[in-house]
Amino acid sequence: MTKWQKIAGSLCGVAVGDALGATLEFMTKKEITEKFGLHTEMIGEGYWKLFPGEVTDDTDMTIAVAKGILTDPEDPVVHIARFFADWARSDPKDIGNICRLALAEGIRRGTVSEAEWLEVSEFAHLQSGGRSGGNGSLMRTIPVVLAYYTDRDRMLQMAYRQSALTHYDPAAGKCVMLYCDLVRRLIEGEDLRTGIRETAEEYRDGFKFRVDLPPEEIKTTGYVVHTLEAALNCAFQTQSFEEAVIMAVNLGGDTDTIGAVTGGIAGACYGLDQIPPRWLGKLAVRDELLDLADSLYRINNT
Ligand SMILES: [Mg+2]
Repeated sequence: MTKWQKIAGSLCGVAVGDALGATLEFMTKKEITEKFGLHTEMIGEGYWKLFPGEVTDDTDMTIAVAKGILTDPEDPVVHIARFFADWARSDPKDIGNICRLALAEGIRRGTVSEAEWLEVSEFAHLQSGGRSGGNGSLMRTIPVVLAYYTDRDRMLQMAYRQSALTHYDPAAGKCVMLYCDLVRRLIEGEDLRTGIRETAEEYRDGFKFRVDLPPEEIKTTGYVVHTLEAALNCAFQTQSFEEAVIMAVNLGGDTDTIGAVTGGIAGACYGLDQIPPRWLGKLAVRDELLDLADSLYRINNT
């Protein structure tokens, strides 16, 4: 499979998982089963009253990361922060707690430099009672892989730095790095299950992830460690993009983000062509994402 297929698949995979999962956000697995049986169609609605194919903060922030990188691939971090702030100023429907705290404070202070953003991130950490290990920096990080996969050290550094702009808890940065390392392996053509096993092994000092959890034992909170483990299980236990994302969103809880994070992995593994057309065709931001994927692809493939 071509790198383009994997890159475009991963970026669109995030948005497809988000748009499919957003219908179910805040529902329990039991409530989903009672209402939908299995949720498999991009119908919008839900808590956010979405139109079919509408995406939420997961995709909006992913687009912000991509635009920041494309503004200056050599030194993207302040540009990423600027796109985050611009997005927060647009008064989005859905914005996670840590991002809301950090971006509102950054805007209030007129924050510009990366060092100042790190102070704002610490402020948000303290304001949230030390609970800044949310999944909000994980869900948006895929463009970092797509831009820097040919230089692992640089990719990991950018991944950590984009995370730290809003998420002070080191667990967020480390989960983002693990996720980027996994998706990098998939872009480079490694087998999905080997990639998941070996990446989990590399990070065994920080995390004890299991990938054989039965769905009812998978935790679905907004804690970054739970979201990453959920996505690893959904990717590991399924055989296609469609199956992986359907498993992810039907777990309940933070369904759009579990869907988005799973979609990033599954898209890099199976490629754009394996995203069901009935989903991709409805995706509101599809053309924008394909353009961004093209620009990210060209950073390393000219
Ligand atoms: Mg969301």
